[in-house]
Amino acid sequence: MTNRLARATGLCLLLSIAGAACAGQVYTVADFARVRKFDAHVHANTDDDAFLNVARKDGFELLSINVDYPDFPPLREQARVAHKLRAADPKLFHFATTFSMQDFGNNRWTEQTNRLIDAEIRQGALGVKVWKNIGMVEKDAQGHLIMLDDSRFDGVMAHIEARHLPLIAHQAEPKNCWLPLEAMTTENDRSYFRDHPSYYMYLHPELPSYESLMAARDRFVARHPKLRFVGAHLGSLEWSVERLAKFLDTYPNARVDLAARMSQVQYQSTTDYAKVRRFFIDYQDRILYGSDLTENPLTAADRAQNPPIDSTRFPEETDEFWRSDWAYLATATVQHVAAINADVRGIALPRRVIDKVYYLNARRVFERAK
Ligand SMILES: [Zn+2]
Repeated sequence: MTNRLARATGLCLLLSIAGAACAGQVYTVADFARVRKFDAHVHANTDDDAFLNVARKDGFELLSINVDYPDFPPLREQARVAHKLRAADPKLFHFATTFSMQDFGNNRWTEQTNRLIDAEIRQGALGVKVWKNIGMVEKDAQGHLIMLDDSRFDGVMAHIEARHLPLIAHQAEPKNCWLPLEAMTTENDRSYFRDHPSYYMYLHPELPSYESLMAARDRFVARHPKLRFVGAHLGSLEWSVERLAKFLDTYPNARVDLAARMSQVQYQSTTDYAKVRRFFIDYQDRILYGSDLTENPLTAADRAQNPPIDSTRFPEETDEFWRSDWAYLATATVQHVAAINADVRGIALPRRVIDKVYYLNARRVFERAK
């Protein structure tokens, strides 16, 4: 960014803080529904119309990500739902596929997985997801945890790259997961890990450290420099925009989505507003809006960390969740954020930045496969 532009942005910020927003340069709360938007990280796991209807009303396209997560329906069912919703509205509904780790390491796994990915591409898949079970749960025949930079993934990753699909990677957990409860930055992490000790890594020093998981992920991104990489949940670097900037600087093929980590960004902007706003402006081409909103069958045992909190109010909570994020990113509105127990002022990003983060970046990354 040029100095002149930086000064102009700074001036705009000062004016909007003073309540006299730079007319025409930022959106308002009322603009929410009419601006074209793309939520690049949701999970639509039921085949009713609820998600499509609220997305249509609020001006969103959706990317529903299938994931090998025990609290979600089986992979085959997730794929069926994705195909059905896409057929119902292919302009609004998009999906990313995933693969199972069953039989990983035997010589047919690569071939079977590539065949499955191709079948999902024929159904319209726009990406492939890998989850944190890689690095934290799955073990090979020798009993070693399988890390993402394992060379036994190379055949599948080369295939995904050849098809021009992006890989969406959720690796590790928020850094809070490795901290004592009193040191955690958000209430939702504190209550979740207190109630789920088996997932609380602070209690499991025998499992990989946060930094060792980040290092394996970084080695993976370096190993596949032509693979379009999307780090889900701010690449698990949600706690520091500086650290995240370093990651994006080091790996030009990487982008990140914001899913389920907005309160961590807000936590940082309550202490250094200008730094967080600067980060979004500097990396405006590399950040994708995502929520992690999940519509699961109501009978599912445990909805874990995914919003909304009350799934019987799915359309209402989804609308409120999206509007709250919009107020934070697009306007200077002050709102109370319960997860960090603070009043948070929105960072009022310029319209051209909002257009990229909320739509254009996702449209560019999730093209049709080749
Ligand atoms: Zn998710």
